[in-house]
Amino acid sequence: MLNDLKHRVYEANLELVKRNLVIYTWGNVSAVSRDEKLIVIKPSGVTYESMTPFDMVVVDFNGNVVDGNLKPSSDTLTHIELYKAFKQIGAIVHTHSTYAVAWAQACRPIPAYGTTHADHFYGDIPCTRILTQQEVESGYEKETGKVIVETFKGIDPVHMPGVLVGSHGPFAWGETPSKAVYNAVVLEEVARMALISEQLGAKSPVPGYILDKHFSRKHGKDAYYGQK
Ligand SMILES: [Zn+2]
Repeated sequence: MLNDLKHRVYEANLELVKRNLVIYTWGNVSAVSRDEKLIVIKPSGVTYESMTPFDMVVVDFNGNVVDGNLKPSSDTLTHIELYKAFKQIGAIVHTHSTYAVAWAQACRPIPAYGTTHADHFYGDIPCTRILTQQEVESGYEKETGKVIVETFKGIDPVHMPGVLVGSHGPFAWGETPSKAVYNAVVLEEVARMALISEQLGAKSPVPGYILDKHFSRKHGKDAYYGQK
């Protein structure tokens, strides 16, 4: 079932290790088939070295396993909330990459200090509020998804393909598993750049006209970056 998507989700999970975004089992990638209303996700707690494409687990939008012998990632219900709310996205990545986690633990959005950031994220990368005790006890993973959706009121998830969950870490997404991993890698890199920029005294974000220019060069109908 969904063998092609299983392979792509598997490859994307391995890419997280290659790009130094995860150690041990601290990350997961999923992808959605909108036609079949099914999600393919990494199994829970399985090491990247021992995993095969056929260990990927297929779940429905209620989190029920419909194909696979292993338990899905413990973050599955977070991914499902995001797929339900953000109809344009096709894949999601969650990691505990160091610099993004540092901003999340400071409970600070990542300021858009320059054009590297502006090329990929249209404004400051938001940070959610910290979950309440009641939310954590009543359904931690689902509530994590809901607090991300709450944070995105008025923000287009296509223009802002990532978020920090306060005191936790980053989620990123994209049209495909490889694009979602790419956005997670860029999020980590701009988190690192922003920290160093502040250490050197950066205080103001990139001016709006430069943010607009850089984002629109690569995104939307007037994009002209790259080859035709
Ligand atoms: Zn996590």
